[in-house]
Amino acid sequence: MHAFQYRGNELYCEQVPVKTIADNIGTPLYLYSRATLVRHFTVFDQAFASIPHLTCYSVKANSNLSILRLLGNLGAGVDVVSGGEIYRAVLAGISPAKIVYSGVGKTREEIRYALTSGILQFNVESEQELEAISSVAKSLGIQAPVALRVNPDVDPKTHPYIATGLKKNKFGIACNAALGLYARAARDPHLRITGIACHIGSQITEITPFVDALERIVAFAAQLKSMHNITVHYLDIGGGLGITYANETPPHPEQYAAALTDLARQSGCTLILEPGRVIVGNAGILVTRVLYTKRTGEKQFIIVDAAMNDLIRPSLYHAHHELQPVVKRNAPCTVADVVGPICESGDFMAHARSIEAMSPGDLIAIMSAGAYGFSMSSNYNSRPRAAEVLVDDSSYRIIRRRETYEDLVRHEQE
Ligand SMILES: *Cc1c(COP(=O)(O)O)cnc(C)c1O
Repeated sequence: MHAFQYRGNELYCEQVPVKTIADNIGTPLYLYSRATLVRHFTVFDQAFASIPHLTCYSVKANSNLSILRLLGNLGAGVDVVSGGEIYRAVLAGISPAKIVYSGVGKTREEIRYALTSGILQFNVESEQELEAISSVAKSLGIQAPVALRVNPDVDPKTHPYIATGLKKNKFGIACNAALGLYARAARDPHLRITGIACHIGSQITEITPFVDALERIVAFAAQLKSMHNITVHYLDIGGGLGITYANETPPHPEQYAAALTDLARQSGCTLILEPGRVIVGNAGILVTRVLYTKRTGEKQFIIVDAAMNDLIRPSLYHAHHELQPVVKRNAPCTVADVVGPICESGDFMAHARSIEAMSPGDLIAIMSAGAYGFSMSSNYNSRPRAAEVLVDDSSYRIIRRRETYEDLVRHEQE
């Protein structure tokens, strides 16, 4: 469910016509629905209400401060993957005691920053990283809270770039190796073992891989107890629940929770969840304006003012985003490539898409763009990044202004 719906021929976000906002703020433009964000977080979090749990929104999906603050006010913790994300989360009022820190390449500076901030847990991805955390903690005279990110070797059946829990992936530590590392951590006065973590991938549309992964880490927790008398408090099963971009039918968060709660309850641990996409994906759209249309050879092109620097998912993963006319004219459909202005053939929003015939000046809503949209955007081709706007019922406000040309060169020297 989301709040981007037609009234007659006009696409609305909550109570505001999308065209009104695009005309006022300009395009390309990221538009988010507050009501949808609130509902997605609440439904997800409530689904686990019957067990001790902490929902740690995954900041990299969309790291805008207003969105972080909104989710934080609903009780969210966060999953971060860099020092910069810790900085954002704390600035947005998230308690460091609700921050879990994942990622294969944490630097010593980031580790120090996380430790002095007082985060809940490091999800550690290698032996050397564990050593580094121990040594930084020692230099600060404190104990670092650690979980090892184990690799449960389950196939999430998703795009290879976003599958992370297979043996061949760079993420996590194989269960066998992790056993020894936990024993080592238990002997280290500068480490405090808090949990076990895993994250098997993203845009997962089946329940089985999640259940398999949780079963493996529950079994692993039991092994830790029996072999090394180590007790963990948190089981972090990562994020990855998929959303509907086109025809996918991912499990509803309630089904997802129902499949996991018994197992989690029996473990006696507190469950940590790290949803990203499922919270913000369908709460945002990218609004773009048609610049030109042209026919070359056999192909029809619609050239729009949004490009791969604004939304890289089609280029990077061949991801599908629905395209909707912001104002339907009920014109006949054509089949067109919808492309941006960037000097790369890989710069496209859609290939061979059936879409209502468009003219220069028309607006297109690129749907399901709230996750890994703005947060993956860049300045490639010296394009200022798009504005971000949050709609709340019948009002809206800019939560990140459009970048200017001055912004582009702000950090450079001649
Ligand atoms: C990216 C990521 C997530 C969030 O994944 P979604 O598919 O957006 O839910 C959670 N945990 C970790 C460790 C991640 O890297």
